[in-house]
Amino acid sequence: MTLLRSTAQLFSSRSFLLLFLGVSTIAVAFNNLNPSKANILAARNQLLVCGRTRSTMRWGASSSSSSSSKTVGGDPQEQEPLDVGRLEQLKQREAELVRALNAVRRDKRAFLRQRPLSIGIIGFGRFGQFMARTFVKQHHRVVATSRSDYADIARGMGVIHIDGMDLPKFLQQNLDVIVLSVSIMSFQETIQKLASSLQEASQSGLVPLPLVVDVLSVKEHPRNIMLTCLPQDVDILCSHPMFGPDSAQHGWNGLNFVYERTRIDGIVWDQEPSKLGGGKELSTHEQSTCNGTATTEQKDRLGQKKYLESHTEGTDRLERFLSIWEEEGCRMVPLSCVEHDTYAANSQFITHLMGRILGKQGLSPTPIDTKGFESVLKLVQTTTADSFDLFYGLYKYNPNSMDTVNNLKIAMDDVVLNLKKVEEAESSS
Ligand code: NAP
Repeated sequence: MTLLRSTAQLFSSRSFLLLFLGVSTIAVAFNNLNPSKANILAARNQLLVCGRTRSTMRWGASSSSSSSSKTVGGDPQEQEPLDVGRLEQLKQREAELVRALNAVRRDKRAFLRQRPLSIGIIGFGRFGQFMARTFVKQHHRVVATSRSDYADIARGMGVIHIDGMDLPKFLQQNLDVIVLSVSIMSFQETIQKLASSLQEASQSGLVPLPLVVDVLSVKEHPRNIMLTCLPQDVDILCSHPMFGPDSAQHGWNGLNFVYERTRIDGIVWDQEPSKLGGGKELSTHEQSTCNGTATTEQKDRLGQKKYLESHTEGTDRLERFLSIWEEEGCRMVPLSCVEHDTYAANSQFITHLMGRILGKQGLSPTPIDTKGFESVLKLVQTTTADSFDLFYGLYKYNPNSMDTVNNLKIAMDDVVLNLKKVEEAESSS
């Protein structure tokens, strides 16, 4: 009887908990002669849970005896017991994952460095030069050609310059990628010239066909022109870095890079069938001047899924090009060209429109500028720093831009009308 009572006391007292702590710790030590920190933590948590279970049992007993004193908000003693140590475990796991991710990123960077790209830029104006600086910084070989002579600037940047937009000579540079950075207005003419040079190069079989990328600020227009004009075995990436020399003067980190893997290995991205020319059909002249195969291709839209399944040289080259932007910290946004233009009309175009309208007012800084007005001046400055060609291109080749202009006029009239109504009501009262 005495033995039974002492055993019961032992199991109900704190000494049981201490005994269990000791036995478990020894068990861990024997189990693994070199226990990891995780094992020790696990054992400690087990013990803490055990200790808590016993305390909870005590809380349970006392709360049932004082149930009449419960508050509406709930008795703190009845809340779920804290899982002490769990947070520490999670933090440790988090740190392990960060270390693993950093290691993968280091491997990726080293892998990319092993095979830098040879990148050709057509159109070495403001934006072409802006991109080239980063391409060179990332150890890619850059070759530029443009209508104007940029030989000195190119040399200063470590870029090879091909004079006078000599495309056959440009193509002999063994380019992996060609980036078109000409104005929206001159895009079609430039692509037509490039297409015939590529066709010749392709027929000669001497030059491997490069990936062709556009960076225009509208997307359906270049997409349709490239699909129509470029030889069918040329891969196409439509892209729009949503920043420029002004907005990204301190780096590209966190800035949006929109892209559509338009055609890889002859497979065309399955975006909603759209009218040619971004809602504006290509004229018969435009179609006949291209060596187009758009009709066949449009029938042959096999979709993104099939593209993702094909791991080819073309895919690798495209991923390497996208990595340039990823490595700079861009926010990568895969988006169809149609969707891009819908969003851009009410974001980018309206920004340029407002900047130009406000610029027309001849605004200038005053001695009492508010932060709001400083933003207005900045908007005027950044939007008018871009060429008028760019602004006109945004208007002409985004099918949604006229709606934006009309909505802005309606909104302006509406706001002024409201002001007048209030004024009239005030004066008649
Ligand atoms: P832009 O005025 O849109 O384009 C200037 C470029 O187009 C220059 O390289 C110019 O060559 C070339 N060009 C103009 N007319 C030409 C013609 N008839 N034939 C051949 N080339 C011609 O200014 P940009 O800012 O440099 O923009 C270039 C492209 O990048 C545009 O498509 C724009 O939409 C896109 N983009 C610009 C920004 C930005 O912030 N600026 C951002 C994202 C995307 P020359 O200099 O040799 O005359």
